[in-house]
Amino acid sequence: MKKLVPDVICESVFAIDLDKLKKRQISGLLVDIDNTLVPWGEPEMEEAFVTWVKGAKQRGFKVCLVSNAKKPRAQSFATLLEIPAVGLALKPLGRAFRKGMALLDLRSHEVAVVGDQLFTDVLGGNRLGIYTILINPLSRNELDSTKIMRRIEQKILGHMVKRGQISAKHAQIRQGRD
Ligand SMILES: [Mg+2]
Repeated sequence: MKKLVPDVICESVFAIDLDKLKKRQISGLLVDIDNTLVPWGEPEMEEAFVTWVKGAKQRGFKVCLVSNAKKPRAQSFATLLEIPAVGLALKPLGRAFRKGMALLDLRSHEVAVVGDQLFTDVLGGNRLGIYTILINPLSRNELDSTKIMRRIEQKILGHMVKRGQISAKHAQIRQGRD
């Protein structure tokens, strides 16, 4: 259960406080693709997200995509953003996150995982002791299995509030869409 608790919850990648990450000595981002940077299954990334990644790079962050999507999909966005990618990541398994860290030449305390799912992004990151940032999914179009997980996520987030593991305000951010 503790491994499902994100370090921070943000409305979207745009709300991530990069200065705060820098203060934590974090200089790398392992970023999910679907519903984090691109609405699930969409072929194109909106310009604002491309700009966000570029901005993070300009501020000294190394960025790697870590996605459960098929490799060609992950690679097409990596090419667009001029960053590395690990596709077919099988998150929450640790292997892809480790590969991402190796590609960025950073260690677990120097990176943050950014993603929209508790059971893949947050769980996988926390298991490796990585700082985890949960964001709201960009769209509700997703796999049926993911939709079921969303309902479970909501329940778990509610429990986290009761236990004082996350603030009600943060849970509210997440519930905004449901
Ligand atoms: Mg996702």
